[in-house]
Parts: sequence; C-alpha cells; structure tokens
Amino acid sequence: MSSSGGRVTCLLDEARRVAIFGGTHGNEMSGVTLVQLWLKDGAEIRRKGLETQAFITNPRAVERRTRYVDTDLNRAFTPENLSAPGGHNLPYEVQRAQEINRMFGPKGTSGAYDVIFDLHNTTSNMGCTLILESSKDHFNLQMINYIKKAISPASCPVLLNEHPHLKYATSRSVAKHPVGLEVGPQPQGVLRSNIFEAMRIILKHALDFIELFNGGTEFPPCSVEVFRVSERMDYPRDTNGNIVAMVHPDLQDCDWEPLNPGDPMFQTFDGKTIRYEGAGTVYPTFINEAAYYEKQQAFVTTRPEKLAASGVRRA
Ligand SMILES: [Zn+2]
Repeated sequence: MSSSGGRVTCLLDEARRVAIFGGTHGNEMSGVTLVQLWLKDGAEIRRKGLETQAFITNPRAVERRTRYVDTDLNRAFTPENLSAPGGHNLPYEVQRAQEINRMFGPKGTSGAYDVIFDLHNTTSNMGCTLILESSKDHFNLQMINYIKKAISPASCPVLLNEHPHLKYATSRSVAKHPVGLEVGPQPQGVLRSNIFEAMRIILKHALDFIELFNGGTEFPPCSVEVFRVSERMDYPRDTNGNIVAMVHPDLQDCDWEPLNPGDPMFQTFDGKTIRYEGAGTVYPTFINEAAYYEKQQAFVTTRPEKLAASGVRRA
C-alpha cells in the first residue's frame, strides 16, 4: 500500500464478538468499576449485531485492590505460559491467562474474539490514551480515527507499542484486534469521576464504530497520528541500584510534550539537574508511573508518526 493510503479499501470480516476487560490490574479502578457496572446491566454496551462481553480478568487482584497476586497478568500471555503444564501449581496469573485464552482465544486463531478492549489507569498525566500493538491493523486505525473525530476538540493520544519480532504478552493480545485504554492521572486504588467518565465515553464511541462497521458503513482511507515507543528510561541509580534522583519538576506531568536535548529530566536529592542528552526531540509518556518503579522505568520516550490507514468495509 502507498504511504498516502491510496484508494485501497480492505474488505474485513465483521467484528461480532467483542470483550471489555477490566481489572487486568486490580487496583486500576475505572475499568474495574465500569466492568462491574456492565456485568450488572449491559444495556450501555449492547449494540446491534455485536455480542459484547464485560469481564473481570484478575478477580483475586481486584478483591485485594492490588496490581496482581503472583505476577503481572498483562505480561503473562506468552506462548510458554499459555502451554505450560502444572494446573493449580502454576502462579495464579498464569492459570488465569490460560483460562482467559480458552475463553477468548485461542490467541492467534480464527476462533479468537474479534476485539478486546482492556481498561487501564495510569498515575501519569496521560489523558485518554489508546494503545495499539500494530501499525498495520487497519480496522483499529479506522476505529481510532473515528474516536478522535467523535471526541474532538478533546484529544486522545495514540501510543504505538510495536515490536516487529516479539510476541505480545498482554491480556488483550488474545484478540484479533487488541485495543488498550490507559486513562489518567489517577492514583492506584482510587476512583476519580472525570477519569471514569473519560474512559466511558471512549468505549461508547468505539462500540458505535463497530456497530456501524458491522452494519456495512464504509470508512474511507485516512491517516492517524501516533506516538511510537522509542526508549525506556530508568531513574539514575547508585552502584547498589537505589534511585538517586526524581523526575524533574519541569518534566513531571508533561506527558506528550516535547523534551529537547538539554532539557531538565531528573533532579537529584541534593538539587542537581540531570538533562536529557538524546539526539533529538522526543515526547515522553508514562512519566513517573507508580507501577513502573518495579520495572526500572521512569518514563518512555516516543516519536510522533503519521500512519496511513486504508479504507475498510465489511466483507
Ligand atoms: Zn494497568
């Protein structure tokens, strides 16, 4: 396909089976609460021509109001884990990944769910972020284009976390079209009404798009701005691995804003500034995310890119 998007229209299968996952991280309360609400009454997520299933992915972590019990469920969907023998002796989240893969997958097969929305919160000031794992999923790109237009002038940045040679291990990676929602800032274990509503509205438009698509609406070629993950930046550490600096006040809460070479990045405990020394301007996000201290990650850098999406229509 040409970079302009060309005149190509892809004929795609209808997206009949759709799941909405909450509680993949048990202390991210917007998704947990919305899914619990929709399990009681699914009228809001019902659409013509769709089977929409709300689902709590990590119920034990939700019960304990913790991110996970044994291991991060959102990294557990590896081929090794999904085929591991051992049953009840496996870590809880590995058992859970196998169950979810049986219910909504199997991952990578024609029997898998068409779309999975996985609802997350972040402590970072990321707003309503949509996360994609592929730059070539034209169905998802068209859905994002639709959502962006629908919520305008509000914005929803798109984070592209694409590894051409790696298999994805996220909960949503079980689906043919995986979509992550990452809405913040919101502390872990806390519900904020503005964040809750923002997530709810994105879901509404996403489901509207799928209903239109299944109903035969053709979506013409378009382009979508995304931020491609570039580098994972750790906190400065001493020789024992202890953190010796914090995110600089000039960078804190400035997710999606440009960080230029020479700009302040960290501040040591005795007040010294550590500056960014990369080759060019980047756009940091997940800045000072609470859950990423254990992953040795202070923020990720991204670079903006325009992706061409071909037109799509139901086959
Ligand atoms: Zn999460």
